[in-house]
Amino acid sequence: MKKEFVVIGLGRFGGSIVRELMSLGANVMAIDSMRERVDEYASIATQAVVADTTDESVIKSLGLWNFEHIIVAIGENIQASILTTLILKEHGVPQITVKAQNDYHEKVLRKIGADFVVHPERDMGIRIANNMMSTNVLDYLELSDEYSIMEIKASDKIAGYNLIDLNIRAQYGINIVGIKRGATIIVSPVPQDPILLGDVLLVIGADVDINRFVKKAL
Ligand code: ATP
Repeated sequence: MKKEFVVIGLGRFGGSIVRELMSLGANVMAIDSMRERVDEYASIATQAVVADTTDESVIKSLGLWNFEHIIVAIGENIQASILTTLILKEHGVPQITVKAQNDYHEKVLRKIGADFVVHPERDMGIRIANNMMSTNVLDYLELSDEYSIMEIKASDKIAGYNLIDLNIRAQYGINIVGIKRGATIIVSPVPQDPILLGDVLLVIGADVDINRFVKKAL
């Protein structure tokens, strides 16, 4: 069965989520209070609807509580974003991802039970700064405020050693959950697996610990 999502707010952020989910084969209901925005997505989304989601009866008539995952991509109108999230959460939608406009907005969203809060401009800024600071950190995925998964390129300082030699888990409290070697990915590497120059290590752990590892070992 296809995965189903609702995206509320069809600005640049919400719109790109709709396009990407559709290209990944999901069913997407796209909602906006502005008709022009909805018309733009009529031929892209599975269903495109003009609706003001701060109106509880509208949310009810669209059957939004039956969806597993709803993305609230209303940014600028903070009041509408909060009210929409609150109504959806009160009616038990299991997963709600909300775009926050600023730190205060984010704080309120977390208080009312938003499951994932994203801050695209800030998150992208952090990601770019991290990539610029270390040529060895190729990419990273923020799991929470403190934990991430990072892709780190193995330098000649650790190439030739295996995971037992490096003792990374004990020394840094982080785990290598995979090794990318060209087109191959070694999932859950065993301690005896050697690391080769140019391997990309998929590392999971607290940001401070991963950064210690990056600074000392690479
Ligand atoms: P970005 O491009 O960075 O995603 P934006 O400025 O294009 O942001 P916002 O103004 O943050 O977009 O709002 C996103 C969309 O949410 C707009 O198209 C707006 O019409 C829609 N929107 C605002 N309030 C509501 C509401 N109550 N119900 C449904 N859609 C709404």
